[in-house]
Amino acid sequence: MRPLVMIPGPIEIDEAVVRAMGQPPKSHLDPELIETFGRALDRLKEVFFAPNGQPFVVAGSGTLAMEMAVANLIEPRDRAVVVDIGYFGARMATILERHGAHVTRVRAEPGKVPSIAEVGAALDHAATKLLAITHVDTSTAARTDVAKLAKLGNERGALVVVDGVCSIGAEELRQEEWGIDVALTASQKAIGAPPGLAILVASERAMEVWGGRKAPVGSFYADFAEWLPIMTAYAARQPKYFATPPVNLIEALDASLALLLAEGMEARFAEHESIARVFRAAWNALELRPLPARDEESANTLSALYYPPGIGPTLVGAVRAEGVVIAGGLHPDLGPKYFRVGHMGLCRPSDVLTTVAAIERALARLGYAPKPMGIAVAAAEAALALENGSP
Ligand code: PMP
Repeated sequence: MRPLVMIPGPIEIDEAVVRAMGQPPKSHLDPELIETFGRALDRLKEVFFAPNGQPFVVAGSGTLAMEMAVANLIEPRDRAVVVDIGYFGARMATILERHGAHVTRVRAEPGKVPSIAEVGAALDHAATKLLAITHVDTSTAARTDVAKLAKLGNERGALVVVDGVCSIGAEELRQEEWGIDVALTASQKAIGAPPGLAILVASERAMEVWGGRKAPVGSFYADFAEWLPIMTAYAARQPKYFATPPVNLIEALDASLALLLAEGMEARFAEHESIARVFRAAWNALELRPLPARDEESANTLSALYYPPGIGPTLVGAVRAEGVVIAGGLHPDLGPKYFRVGHMGLCRPSDVLTTVAAIERALARLGYAPKPMGIAVAAAEAALALENGSP
């Protein structure tokens, strides 16, 4: 039987999205495909809360979206500050350096986030062209306060780039209101489509800064100059070619964005908060310690939990044997000490219970059973009832 995929991306996707994906590929210049692509671009602006933003959708993964942001905005010797809360913040710093930036990393221990004062001090140290923020670091499940950090960046005149790969579509993020110049993600996370699309939305200011560059963009494939005419054409429902778009993925993206917007962004945010609370109740019952030290700095899109005493990475395989796929640790300092459970996108109450039960059973099988069997599932059931307003 097909296992339930509960990793922090790729995630379980809706059948409507699978159907949209599973057709013979259309021509990228087919009028139906052009309509679908144009509609997906319109929908992205709604999902990102960026009515005046410029969306880009390009074949690739989230890492390409990160590199596109950097390649187009950074010129050699520009200064950048990275709010580095884990594996993906470190990756952003590496990409920035590769494109010639002088990078200051404001780091935090795994599971923590730097204070606003620490980031402010780094920005004040010297003129900063770009402030990069990871919204949710998928390696630790820590979440930054993007609204406050973006404000800080805006006040200092820095462009604000937010890696929202593990947040956009699930965690509250309001691009224009919060002053974010580039918000980026990938199709396989809370957006709810298969992997394969790099997605970013650039502000008018970001496009102006790009337009005023002196040095050429150091990447041919990632250059806005190649993609802007394509995105503008599709948005105007006109055909145009630069590099073949992954047409089936574009159809899947449009279908998943339709579902997202039909639910409504506010409902999506609330739903993810609610599911995260239910998981937290189950982890408490199992006495599993999360990496993020504080609830208000914990992601709603995934949980990262230390293995309990006597348990190690074999848990991941044992949970797989129970029919649920979870992920091991990813942070370079702590990798073998913890595991991760994704809970973004399509995650029904029954999926929560299945996941909690699989973990509880696997832990017991491996010899960790501090409480009567079923206590975690009972805690999740009780929390679900509370979330639904029943006693
Ligand atoms: N940033 C974050 C926060 C991520 O979680 C990921 C993927 N897990 C990436 C960037 C990179 O995305 P991709 O694997 O699609 O290249």
